[in-house]
Amino acid sequence: MLLQEMRTDVLRYAQRMYKAGLTVGVSGNVSAIDRESNTIAITPSGMDYDELTPEDITLIDLEGQVVDGTRRPSSEKMLHIKIYQSRPDVNAVFHTHSTYATALAAMGEPIPVILAEVAAIAGGPIPVAPYARFGTPEFGDVAVAAMGDKPAALLQNHGVVCAGKDLQKAFLIAVDTEEAAKIYMFSLMAGKRAIRLNDEEIPVLHEIYATRYGQNPLKP
Ligand SMILES: [Zn+2]
Repeated sequence: MLLQEMRTDVLRYAQRMYKAGLTVGVSGNVSAIDRESNTIAITPSGMDYDELTPEDITLIDLEGQVVDGTRRPSSEKMLHIKIYQSRPDVNAVFHTHSTYATALAAMGEPIPVILAEVAAIAGGPIPVAPYARFGTPEFGDVAVAAMGDKPAALLQNHGVVCAGKDLQKAFLIAVDTEEAAKIYMFSLMAGKRAIRLNDEEIPVLHEIYATRYGQNPLKP
């Protein structure tokens, strides 16, 4: 099987996404790219996450053509392709329908910087891409434009897209985005205006996260 390790990893993270409750039923999709061959491993269209095997993860090229695999690739492959084409720093993409973030997407409401975590991962609010029909190239274009250099965007009337250097980083962005959306929604439901972090603090937290958080090597 071509790119067996990458397909196995995509499968593992797709199942983690599902088990974490970031998507329900057969919605959502996950991919990773091999930059040397410009080959993308992506979850198949409309299959039960619990029943997937590495062979079900389809390999496609940057035109969306199937390179290897017997399954039809995710119907939202153009979203993934557009992100890989415009973001050389990104090697993994998650598209979820996580509940709280999708509720904000349905309201066209970005996630403001009300938590240190949002400042750290995104360096600013998590934006909302305007509505576009799923499965179309425009759906990818509006997501890319809204994301800019950020790791996530909400997709109006639809869901969420998250990206990262690898599957683990992109998965954690999806988890953190949903958590931040949940807390913001609770603050809205409490009828109070959550306090925004001040503008000087946001880039400092973003820089700390990018360079000194977790097991990244310490910068001198
Ligand atoms: Zn979707």
